[in-house]
Amino acid sequence: MADTLKLVKKISRLADGKKSLRFMEVCGTHTVAIFRSGIRQILPDNVELVSGPGCPVCVTNDDYIDKAIAYSRRKNFIVATFGDMLKVPGSRSSLAAASAEGADVRIVYSPLDAVKIAEENSRKQIIFLAVGFETTAPTAAATVLAAQARGVKNLFMLSAQKLVPPTLRVLLDDAAVKVDGFLLPGHVAVVIGAKAFNFLADEFKISGAIGGFEADEILSALVSLLEQLDSGRAQVTNNYRAVVTDEGNVAAKKILSQVYEVTDADWRGLGKIPASGLRMRDEFAAFDIERVEPIEIERVEKKSACRCGEVLRGVIKPTDCPLFGKACKPLHAIGPCMVSVEGVCAAWFKYGGNNFKW
Ligand code: SF4
Repeated sequence: MADTLKLVKKISRLADGKKSLRFMEVCGTHTVAIFRSGIRQILPDNVELVSGPGCPVCVTNDDYIDKAIAYSRRKNFIVATFGDMLKVPGSRSSLAAASAEGADVRIVYSPLDAVKIAEENSRKQIIFLAVGFETTAPTAAATVLAAQARGVKNLFMLSAQKLVPPTLRVLLDDAAVKVDGFLLPGHVAVVIGAKAFNFLADEFKISGAIGGFEADEILSALVSLLEQLDSGRAQVTNNYRAVVTDEGNVAAKKILSQVYEVTDADWRGLGKIPASGLRMRDEFAAFDIERVEPIEIERVEKKSACRCGEVLRGVIKPTDCPLFGKACKPLHAIGPCMVSVEGVCAAWFKYGGNNFKW
C-alpha cells in the first residue's frame, strides 16, 4: 500500500500542469486489472486510460465466427473452443445457438484437450478454434506438433491468431486515435521480447511501457510513461523485468516459426492489417481445416448499432454506444466487446459504467 501511495503521488506530481494525457492499454487482462484495482478513480483528472484492441475474442470478425458455426453444423464435426467464444455473435448466429440446435460444440480449457477429444472420437473431425495473440499461439503450435507426433489425423485448427505490434502501427496511423503512450502487454512481451516494441519510440516517437498486471506494476508503468513525456524523450521501457527479457521466450518463438508463417489478418474494427496474423506453414497444411476442407460462407451485411469497432480503437467509450447497458448487457450481448470477460464494454458494465471518466 505504501508503494501504491508513493506511485500515485508520483503520477500526480508528473501530470501536474500538463495537458490532458491519454494512455492506451492493448491487453484485455490489463483492461480488467485496471478496472478491478480501481486505478482509473485514483488518477489525476488529466490522465486518462483508454482500452485498445486487446481482447482476442473481441477483435475476431464475423466471417470467422460464421465459418466456425458452419463447420459445427456439418455432420460428424466437433468444434472445440474456449468458453468465451460461444456467445460471440457472427453475422446471423452464434456457436451457442448452433449448439442449442444440435451442433457438437465443446468447451475446452487448453488446446491440448482438443487432441484428447480427437483421440476419443476417431470417426469425427475435430476443429479447435485457435483465437488469440502471441501469448496463446505457442500453445496452439505445440498442440499441432503434439497431434502430429501422436499420429492424430482428425484434429484441425481454424486459425484467427493475431500479432500485436502491426496493430499498434495501424492505430498510430489512424488520425481518429489519440494516444500519448501505450501501456504495453506484459504477457505478449514475455513471448516476443521487449525489443519488439522499440519501433514505437524509434519510428513513431511515442512512449511505451511494458507492464505487469498487479496494481503497482500498472502504476509503475504509468510513471514511466509520464517520466518519458516529462523528459521529452520517447522510449520503450520494460517495467515487467521479472518475466520479460529483451529477446522474449526463444523456445516459444522457435515453435511459433516452426508451425506458422506471418500473414495478413482481418480485425474487427480495424479491417485487414498486413502481416498481423499467423497461418500454418505448408508442412502443417493437413492441420488447417480451411485448406483440408474449405468452406464458403454467405456474407451478410449486418445492420447493427453496435459500435464495438470504434470502442476497440479507443475512439469512443462504451457508454457512448446507445445500446450500452440497455439492449446490450453481458447476459444479452449484442457485440463481442460485451461478451468476453476481457471485453471493454463488459468491464465497463461490470465495474461501474457511467461512473468512470474516460
Ligand atoms: S455496448 Fe454492446 S452494442 Fe455497444 S459497442 Fe459495446 S458490445 Fe457493441
